[in-house]
Amino acid sequence: MSAAIIDGAAISAALRARVAAGVRALAAEGIVPGLAVVLVGDDPASRVYVRNKGARTEEAGMRSLEYRLPAETSEAELLALVARLNADEAVDGILVQLPLPAAIDSGKVLLAIDPAKDVDGFHPVNAGRLATGQAALVPCTPLGCVILAKSVRPDLAGLDAVVVGRSNIVGKPVAQLLLAEHCTVTVAHSRTRDLPGLCRRADLLVAAIGRPDFVRGDWIKPGAIVIDVGINRVADPATGEGKTRLVGDVAFAEAAPVAGAITPVPGGVGPMTIACLLRNTLAAAATRRGRPLPADIA
Ligand code: NDP
Repeated sequence: MSAAIIDGAAISAALRARVAAGVRALAAEGIVPGLAVVLVGDDPASRVYVRNKGARTEEAGMRSLEYRLPAETSEAELLALVARLNADEAVDGILVQLPLPAAIDSGKVLLAIDPAKDVDGFHPVNAGRLATGQAALVPCTPLGCVILAKSVRPDLAGLDAVVVGRSNIVGKPVAQLLLAEHCTVTVAHSRTRDLPGLCRRADLLVAAIGRPDFVRGDWIKPGAIVIDVGINRVADPATGEGKTRLVGDVAFAEAAPVAGAITPVPGGVGPMTIACLLRNTLAAAATRRGRPLPADIA
């Protein structure tokens, strides 16, 4: 039997539609959520992300503000912009696109963002709230992973979950979110012993490593839910010289016949990130103004 393919494009579109409905309800009270995205320099991948974020923000009925600063922008100038956005009542969410130029300390910039507007969920206050089970703005990609897993199994309680990767932006917050869903969570990393054996025990396996096709089919427990966060560009000579394609961290063709459900790359976790960013912006707008969160995005 082959795994169910978890359709991140459809699930993210449905989330964006629920967010848009929540935005319309706030707009009826005269509140239009605003998302400010700050891009420093001209990293081509970041430019594409920022353009997509702006388009999706407006589609959801929110105000999109874009700040494109030159690569030579100083840390002090960027911190001054963040301070202005913190003070601006029309701005509910602030996202500073990473990576920042090497001369700027990104930790210092992320720390300067008002935690109530930290829609990326990277501020230590939000990370601490998540870790201590309090209401928080949680990082978008990890939230997307959990929504995808729950799309095939709404109650994750009791599952043995293995998260491969311990970064602050993916692995650690995914582990915290799964713990909050009452999974028994193991976090693996480059020093983990017998990673294949550990993965084979996972009812729910999240791969956030950044290595193409790293998790093999015989590492998967039959029937497991597999969430592949990896986005890796590899050469694809089959489609032409110099051509590339995207693959995940899981060897999809090997894993799909074994898993119960699996996310593809592309079209799995990737599209969830922007949808969760919009969700967080709506949540920030509602919370900042003392309004309840719509139940279907809570
Ligand atoms: P990082 O490089 O920050 O972290 C990678 C993690 O994988 C580390 O914890 C590292 O362990 C672990 N790792 C590396 N090699 C091995 C190994 N051989 N065995 C076991 N563990 C290993 O990456 P990110 O967390 O930022 O991203 C992970 C992947 O997710 C990337 O492909 C990235 O492109 C993708 N991504 C996708 C997003 C989306 O869908 N929108 C958003 C963000 C990321 P250690 O800590 O010991 O070094």
